[in-house]
Parts: sequence; C-alpha cells; structure tokens
Amino acid sequence: MDVPFFGGCACGAVRYECSVVPLAMVSCHCRDCQRAGGSGFSPTVLVPAVAFKLLKGEPKFHTIKADSGHTARRAFCAERGAPLFASTSARSDCLGIRAGSLDDPSWFRPQAEVWAASAQPWDHLNPEVPHFPHDSQRGPNA
Ligand SMILES: [Zn+2]
Repeated sequence: MDVPFFGGCACGAVRYECSVVPLAMVSCHCRDCQRAGGSGFSPTVLVPAVAFKLLKGEPKFHTIKADSGHTARRAFCAERGAPLFASTSARSDCLGIRAGSLDDPSWFRPQAEVWAASAQPWDHLNPEVPHFPHDSQRGPNA
C-alpha cells in the first residue's frame, strides 16, 4: 500500500485521505457492525484520527451505544447511505475505516478477528490470525 491512501463512498459525494500507514487491521464481528453494514463483519482499518482528513463532502453520523458499552459514532454517506468509518469513545484518537470504502481495498490484511463471540455461525473466521471474543485490547481470553 502507498501513503497517503484514499477512499470514499459509493456515489463519490464523500472522499477522504489518510496520510499514514494503518495502526492495525481487524475484522470486527460485533452486532453493531453487523447491523450497520448488513453483513457478518466489518473489515476495519484502524488509523490515527489526526492522520485522517475529509477531502470532499460531509458524511452523516449515527451514534449508538456499542456492545462494549462505549459510544460508537458511525459515518455514512448522506446521499446513498454507504458506511465509511467509525470511532468509539473507548479510543477517540483512532478511526476505523471500512476497508470496502478504500479506493484499493486489496491491501487490507486483517490481523485479528475481534468480537468473535458474536460472529455468525455462517461466517468464516480466518484460522491464521488471533480470535478475540471481544475487543483486542482485552486480550485473547477476555
Ligand atoms: Zn464492530
């Protein structure tokens, strides 16, 4: 992957840039990610919030109390609804970008399966990376 890297929503109304390499990449199986994305998990690129910049458009935000008990704030395209990125009050210095919104999602390499306790039975979790029942900060046996 190159930095900066870029992405945006499905219709092009919102565009963003990130100026540094990601802090981590995870697949999040929490119920909130499932509901927000309509899928089994959210492929998430964690970046420092200060390195992230909106280039075009203003996403809408949806705030919800997440499974962790913290407040999750999710950004999506106000025009077409595409999920873009999210943040949590647990780590307000970070943003989680939806890998599918990247201009080149092919470099996404999930290093962990998080919130695996709520993974769906029909989903396939990568056996080659650690599985965390909840978030990765609580350790693999949390
Ligand atoms: Zn999640």
